[in-house]
Amino acid sequence: MDLLLKNAVIVTVNPQREIFYHGAMAVNRGRIAAVGPEDVVLKAYPTADTVMDLDGKVIFPGFINTHNHLFQTLLKGLGDDMVLSDWLSTMTFPAAQYLEPEDTYYAAMLGCMEGISSGMTTQLDYMYPHPREGLDDGILRAFKELKIRGIFGRGCMNTGEQFGVCPAIMQDMKAIEADLVRLFDTYHNTENGRIQIWAAPAALWSNDEENLRMLWDVVNSYGSGLTVHVSETPFDRASTAKLHGAEGTDCLEKLGILGPNVLMVHCVHLNHGDILRAARYDLKVSHNPVSNMYLSSGIAPIPEMLAAGVTVGLGVDGAASNNGQDMIELMKTTALLQKVGTLDPTSITAEKVLEMATIDGARAIGLEGEIGSLEAGKKADFVIFNPYRNPKAVPMHNPVSTLVYSSTMENIESVAVDGEFVLLDGAFTMIDDEQGILRDAQRTAEDLCVRGGITNRLEGHTWRNPAP
Ligand SMILES: [Zn+2]
Repeated sequence: MDLLLKNAVIVTVNPQREIFYHGAMAVNRGRIAAVGPEDVVLKAYPTADTVMDLDGKVIFPGFINTHNHLFQTLLKGLGDDMVLSDWLSTMTFPAAQYLEPEDTYYAAMLGCMEGISSGMTTQLDYMYPHPREGLDDGILRAFKELKIRGIFGRGCMNTGEQFGVCPAIMQDMKAIEADLVRLFDTYHNTENGRIQIWAAPAALWSNDEENLRMLWDVVNSYGSGLTVHVSETPFDRASTAKLHGAEGTDCLEKLGILGPNVLMVHCVHLNHGDILRAARYDLKVSHNPVSNMYLSSGIAPIPEMLAAGVTVGLGVDGAASNNGQDMIELMKTTALLQKVGTLDPTSITAEKVLEMATIDGARAIGLEGEIGSLEAGKKADFVIFNPYRNPKAVPMHNPVSTLVYSSTMENIESVAVDGEFVLLDGAFTMIDDEQGILRDAQRTAEDLCVRGGITNRLEGHTWRNPAP
């Protein structure tokens, strides 16, 4: 055995949803060999190369972030308190046009570091601007260096100028197809399977039918998946209807993009028919409540989706509309937003939110056989949670409640992917100079703003306080 964790509370999220209050978990060659009551596990596996006594601490499955735009971590705080069209035109598009490979690398390092600090072990990044070559590789380099589980969604837009898409970040279909195939052939299923490639058309209204069908054919030929923003706003639905003659999941049905390997992002404005269709075809949903609140997109009808049997995972979304990557804040926000949206405190529970951040997230990205719960045979992606790192999480009566409602990133003590610690006792094991990376990310973000002519920062910032 490589690793034996004992004397722990273990929240498995297995099919029986077992919690072992005096539990142990044995890990070998990156997979869970056994998990259960401590006496049972220790009888089979009395020792290991590394033994950790986790007195008073909790093991959770690693958290899964099903939606992100890592390049946006350099843009935190530049688009606050704006309507979406200004958010796009004054900040996101100008920055996207000037991205260099060094920017995407530092953006991804920064975003992944924050994610890992909050217990994230897997994420799906959705990289839609491609003003020059090499930007994808910067993000994939960060995934590899940090040894996290990373799905890289190769984004694109080949139309949509009529709806405000910036022509400088549009590409033609041939260029998109060539780069997508290159990424599949270079990276898909590498790093012990931790890296996967998906397609990620930016929106249904910024990609024409021919391009969307091409993407669908390519991902299916590699046994992979497709993720797309769907029904984020009424504008999204109206533009999709104008371009394709149908909206929401009706549009996906019309295009033939249907199946369990389709992950729809946001889905704030899905109607009842859309939800029934999503259930029928097993289309998955990524729910991004912090971003939906920040951009005033609305409240996604999550209880209705869950009642219909739709799988819903959680996403932080890009840091330009969050403005962080914090999975713990995301879980609490998920619960509170539904409670206030439905005026019903029973509309969602802490347990359901944890399922969304773990096993349902795994299902949303097609990895439920490998990750998302702590079960023998699955990959050893897990979090060690220590309530005693701050007063907020004490007393801990119910570990799931404490995690969702009473914790912070500080309580995430250690994080492992494939049985290897990427964060140990609060320190990043794959990084020699954490401060150096943070300073480099700050410098890179400042340089990008200068190149993009983004002026509402530092000395250019003006105090905004609307008149009463
Ligand atoms: Zn997004």
